[in-house]
Amino acid sequence: MAVPKRRTSKTRQKKRRTHKNLTIPNMVECPECGEMKRSHRVCGSCGSYKGQEVVEK
Ligand SMILES: [Zn+2]
Repeated sequence: MAVPKRRTSKTRQKKRRTHKNLTIPNMVECPECGEMKRSHRVCGSCGSYKGQEVVEK
């Protein structure tokens, strides 16, 4: 098994993890029920999109 020759420094470890961050999905308040939902997506709790377009219930 391969063993690392040197221990990874704190700086190197942090530099590696700069690519690891997750982007927070932009949430907006649903105009129908007021729940937080992702923009440009059908609301998860009431199933509405763009006012009255009810897709699922
Ligand atoms: Zn809703």
